[in-house]
Amino acid sequence: MKKILKGLSLYELKKFFENIGEPSYRAEQFFQGLYKKRYTSFDNFTNFPKTLRDKLKEIAEIPYLKLKKKIQSKDGTVKFTFSVDQDKEIESVWIPSGDLERKTICISSQVGCTLSCAFCATGTLLDFKGNLKTWQIIDQVLQVEEIVGERCTNIVFMGMGEPMHNYLAVLKAAHIFHHHLGLGLGAKKITISTAGVISGIERFIQNKEPFNFAISLNHPNPNFRAQLMNVDKKYPLMDLLKVARKFTKTLGRKITFEYVMIPEVNMGKENAKRLVKLARSVNCKINLIPLNTDLNGWRRPTEVEVEEFKELIKESHVPIINRRSPGKDIHGACGMLALRG
Ligand code: SAH
Repeated sequence: MKKILKGLSLYELKKFFENIGEPSYRAEQFFQGLYKKRYTSFDNFTNFPKTLRDKLKEIAEIPYLKLKKKIQSKDGTVKFTFSVDQDKEIESVWIPSGDLERKTICISSQVGCTLSCAFCATGTLLDFKGNLKTWQIIDQVLQVEEIVGERCTNIVFMGMGEPMHNYLAVLKAAHIFHHHLGLGLGAKKITISTAGVISGIERFIQNKEPFNFAISLNHPNPNFRAQLMNVDKKYPLMDLLKVARKFTKTLGRKITFEYVMIPEVNMGKENAKRLVKLARSVNCKINLIPLNTDLNGWRRPTEVEVEEFKELIKESHVPIINRRSPGKDIHGACGMLALRG
């Protein structure tokens, strides 16, 4: 088996080069070649002697994800389907913002998801087929950028899967995105999102990770959240809020709560009041996302309903992020990954 060099940390690369009798600065050159210069084969490393390149070809490899499908939305969003290990597929989404300053790539961390949130297509329509490896997480960004011919400004771990269930690979990828010899993206430009897996959040706090962090809250009532999100049975809302407070205190920064607005389920005055009360107890921002699917007979809220709900929250002065959820016509919006088209 050839050694996969994409996705190794700089430290691991140094060990690799030392083991084959090469100076450790080769690791820096290699890391930079892969992520900064975007080399895709050993032949690109003309800064290495030919003998070393030949040796690397024999014992190591630089794998890449195979593009299966690409569809572009009217709003500029592009959804990519990549095949992984022959029979598995994942999706990644390129999301340019209207003013063209922000270009976000939304990436997957697992093939499918084990959590089956009632409103999310990935969890309800797809079988779970395993964790992605670090290189498979990173390559989504490298490939998408190569295909669209532009560099992203932001990366969000909000595609398929639960990042906290693939913690090591996800964090390793995030550090390579952040590293100055890697993609060199600011830590605040990288957002990791969880459905509320407390063990992972604790780990993130303990390691003092520098990245943006979001929790998908989705219901402000401890008696009802578990009906939407199975994960609440294991990690109940009240415990989740406690760990969110610990996050903001220990790391000294805000946490984001994502809230999928589902009419007749988690909207209306009563829920807005509860959401505000809860949000005031944590140093947070709220990201309100209109439901994008019609699973369970639910429907997308109307513009008026969305505005009304937003107003109720705004009155409380809890900060709200106005994120669009573009790409609906290509099933590339939040919670739609796995719906064909
Ligand atoms: N498992 C992680 C990462 C996926 S993020 C998490 O849950 O945070 C996907 C985001 O899209 C989550 O905030 C989720 O609440 C939201 N989402 C899921 N299904 C949706 C839908 N049908 N409409 C709108 N947003 C949805």
